[in-house]
Amino acid sequence: MGETAENFVLVINSGSSSIKYQLLDPESSVVAASGIVERIGEDDSVIQHRADGESTERREPIADHTAGLRLVFEMFAATGHDLRREGVRAVGHRVVHGGEVFYRPTLIDDDVAAAISDLSALAPLHNPANLAGIESARALLPDAPQVAVFDTAFFHGLPAAAKTYAIDAKVAAAHGIRKYGFHGTSHEYVSGRVAELLGRDPGELNQIVFHLGNGASASAIRGGRPVDTSMGLTPLEGLVMGTRPGDLDPGIVAHLARSAHLDIDQIDTLLNRDSGIKGLSGVNDFRELRRLIETGDDAARLAYDVYVHRLRRYLGAYLIELGGVDAITFTAGVGENSPQVRADALAGLARFGIEVDPAANTAENRTARRISTPDAPVAVLVVPTNEELAIARAARRVVDRLD
Ligand code: ADP
Repeated sequence: MGETAENFVLVINSGSSSIKYQLLDPESSVVAASGIVERIGEDDSVIQHRADGESTERREPIADHTAGLRLVFEMFAATGHDLRREGVRAVGHRVVHGGEVFYRPTLIDDDVAAAISDLSALAPLHNPANLAGIESARALLPDAPQVAVFDTAFFHGLPAAAKTYAIDAKVAAAHGIRKYGFHGTSHEYVSGRVAELLGRDPGELNQIVFHLGNGASASAIRGGRPVDTSMGLTPLEGLVMGTRPGDLDPGIVAHLARSAHLDIDQIDTLLNRDSGIKGLSGVNDFRELRRLIETGDDAARLAYDVYVHRLRRYLGAYLIELGGVDAITFTAGVGENSPQVRADALAGLARFGIEVDPAANTAENRTARRISTPDAPVAVLVVPTNEELAIARAARRVVDRLD
């Protein structure tokens, strides 16, 4: 394998019942191993571990995150990296909500862990799960520096007009209600790559980035700094997503409570898990949605049209907010893999300098690339996101400062 684990950063993205991980060298971007633990807490838990191009799978009940991570370390040891003996340069943790407190990658100690826990009120589905991963990694790798990288951090400096909700200011202040934005690690990484690819100084570019995965968000970035983003206090706002509706009339919540007699947890579940593309069509994966559309399924067609309509609404809003745009970029599962979505989102906009080249858009290509026509004033790009690499680099920068 050449390198020892000491040069590597272990990146952990811990969810409520899963842990995704990657061991990589932030300098060379070489990934030594990666994998996912799924269905933690159930009887049919499974770990899929990939190292040196080979996949291994282990199926057995995994009670909690610490048990899962312990098994992951056993699989690492079996594939040549005994992390508990060799150590790692750092462990980088994806943490969804940093609130007002955290806006840069932060070395984790007991106080930081407690503060991440306190922020669970703002992200009840995410922060406790992130913390479970942090506590497990701290217990199993007590000598490794642990760094939290926050999904909200990039958007910390949003202008007041963009981040303020027009509700009673005292209520908002008392409860931390403002737009925080999410997927920040991806928006920052991708917009940085765009500047590199175009050979331009990020400081002179106006950009719109669409991160379209299961969750989806858009951002408007001026000179390397975000001026607006579609997700809000929580990752529910904005674009239509796999299972989330994005923007809604807030009156719908009160109406559901009164008319459908749903309690607040049922409404939360409806909005987080049973809405969006899934709520409209019955499926949340875009590949399945396409297949349904091809069979003439009207609900699937409508779901797709609503999705694209919302994308275009944000595109229009951000074009005006920025006063013109130099680059529009698509990333994440749908953004990277669906030429149809990209073409439909930007159709008929030649008068704004936006023109997708059909051949470039549909070419089989997994690398970062430009898909606009050669003469179009606005560059349209597809840039694969790499949140793990961005987290590893951020963690590395924090620990380098400790030396
Ligand atoms: P996550 O938000 O979980 O990180 P991803 O960025 O991996 O999600 O995106 C997952 C989504 O990407 C899937 O639900 C699927 O809809 C979509 N997707 C993946 N591959 C393709 C493809 N080849 N064509 C269209 N959509 C795809």
